[in-house]
Parts: sequence; C-alpha cells; structure tokens
Amino acid sequence: MKARNFRYIRPASLAQAYQILEDAGGDAVPVAGGQSLLAGLNMRLSAPKLLVDIGDLKELTGQSHACGVVRLGALTRHAELLRSDLVRRHLPLLVQAVPHIGHIAIRNRGTLGGSLAYADPAAELPACAVALGATLVLGSRAGEREVKAEGFFKGLFETDLRPGELIVAAKFPATAAGMCVGFAELSRRHGDFALVGLAAAMTIQHGRIGDAKLVYFGCVDRAKVARTVSAAVAGSAAPLRDTKTLDEAIAQDLAPDDTPGLRADTKLHLAKVLTHRVLNSLSERAA
Ligand SMILES: Cc1cc2nc3c(=O)[nH]c(=O)nc-3n(C[C@H](O)[C@H](O)[C@H](O)COP(=O)(O)OP(=O)(O)OC[C@H]3O[C@@H](n4cnc5c(N)ncnc54)[C@H](O)[C@@H]3O)c2cc1C
Repeated sequence: MKARNFRYIRPASLAQAYQILEDAGGDAVPVAGGQSLLAGLNMRLSAPKLLVDIGDLKELTGQSHACGVVRLGALTRHAELLRSDLVRRHLPLLVQAVPHIGHIAIRNRGTLGGSLAYADPAAELPACAVALGATLVLGSRAGEREVKAEGFFKGLFETDLRPGELIVAAKFPATAAGMCVGFAELSRRHGDFALVGLAAAMTIQHGRIGDAKLVYFGCVDRAKVARTVSAAVAGSAAPLRDTKTLDEAIAQDLAPDDTPGLRADTKLHLAKVLTHRVLNSLSERAA
C-alpha cells in the first residue's frame, strides 16, 4: 500500500514550525526520522493532510551537560546516542538500550524525540526515560513547558503532547556514582521489537538495594514505573533471596494480556526471568 496524498513542508526555524502546526490545526503532523510515521502512512493507519518535516530545526539538536543534567535535543538520532561521549559518561543505561533498537539503518534515521512522541509500549527509550527520571521539554507557539517522563506517557501510543506542540529536548539527571543501571530485553530476533524488556535504575550500597525504579516494556501499555516491584526490591539485600515475593509483585504490576503468538503467562514468565537476570547482574557489578 502507499500513503494517501499529503502536502509536505520543511520549515527553517522552530518559530515557523510552531506557526505552521498551529495554523493547520489537527491536519498537520511533524515528521522527524520518519521510521515509525512513514510506515504508518503507507499502511494508511493515519492520513494527515500536511507533513511538517522538523529535520532542519537546529533548535531541536545538540547535547549538553550542566549542573548534573544532560540535555539531549529531540532530533538526536539513536546512532548519535551511541557515539556521544556525554551519553557514554553520564547515561550508561541508554548505551545499553540503544543497540536493541531496530537495525543500523533505523538507528541512523530514528530520533529520540520521535521515539518518545510515538510512545510505542515496546520501545526502549520511553522506558529508559522513565527509569532515569527524565523531564521532557515541550514547546509550542504558547511557549515551553516541562513534563516528567512518567507523566508524559498516558497509554498505548498516547502522550501528554497537545495539538501544535513539539518535543524540544529531553533532560536526564546524570547517573550519579553509586547508582546502578541495568537493561535487558527478549525479542524473537535481534532488532525486532521487544516481547518483554526491562530498564532499571537503583542504588546498591553495602550489598543493599536503596531506591529502585524498574520499568518494563513490550508487556505493558505504556512506560511507567512498576511500583509494586520497585517497592519489593527497595531495601532488600542483593542478590535477592525472596524470589516468591518478587514474582508476585511482577504479576501484580504487569497483568499482561494474551496477544497473537504470545500468551499472557509466557510474557509473565519472561518478565520474571529478565528481572532476576538484571537484578543478579547489578548485584554482581555492585559487589
Ligand atoms: C523495521 C523497524 C524496526 C524498528 N524497531 C524498533 C525497536 O526495536 N525499538 C524502537 O524503539 N523503535 C523501533 N523502530 C522505530 C524507530 O525507533 C523510530 O525511529 C522511532 O520510534 C521514531 O523516531 P522517528 O524520528 O523516526 O519518528 P517519526 O517516525 O518521524 O515520528 C514518529 C511520531 O512522533 C512524532 N514526532 C516526531 N518527532 C517529534 C517531536 N520532536 N515532537 C513531537 N512529535 C514528534 C511524529 O509526528 C509521529 O507521530 C523500528 C522501526 C522500523 C521501521
């Protein structure tokens, strides 16, 4: 199938992009890397009248680090995250996660902002943003506002973005000394979307887990902290001995549905396997 007809415009400045998006009302959608949007258009899942290509907007690029916060422009491509010294030094969770996103060609085009805005429940970056406590900078003609990543993801492919608004940047707290991050996912083949995945951030000191944020993807409707699991883990000695309590907490937080080719109980089993795998490797590294 091919996309329905649409008009295409590539504004040269952020102010111009905001103006175009506002004037078009609900008829325009932004396109960044096009790796999710264009497939959807070709499958006729949506048929916008106007595509606003934000690829030239310098205001959405750049990486910086100040006062313990790493700011990444929305147009930062997945491949750039892997090449970035700032990311390697201060956001090791992203370095673990990004190689799992699709294939090289997709990582060369796909952007951080596009992945967050698309809010695919099987995507790696939304889960990492929530686990790391990121804040998203959203902009429109009305100005900018900041939203915590956890409040940004509202449901399946649903976010807090308002009509005419763009993700400008994501701000991540730099991972502090003493903070441990872990990532794992299971997919049918490397590069496929995750069946089940886990991004985790926690402190481990003297063999004991402190604050913990565990965020699953692929088996939930959106990126959110698995509260019962995170509470079950916090305060425990690492490695965990009481696996029964942890497994019950996972079942309580996830409650996945059957989907074609994958039963809910299989997803739950995979989530438990991944959780133990990530926690054990973090305990070993902390020791
Ligand atoms: C074969 C294949 C495999 C893939 N595998 C994975 C995978 O394993 N994991 C994964 O996470 N992703 C995967 N992807 C998706 C890929 O990571 C996309 O690049 C990403 O989800 C969207 O980024 P984009 O820049 O391409 O966004 P686009 O496709 O351009 O846009 C996606 C959506 O976000 C909106 N948007 C884009 N930028 C902004 C912005 N700054 N502000 C507001 N709205 C914006 C668009 O309007 C659109 O609705 C895969 C894609 C393909 C084709």
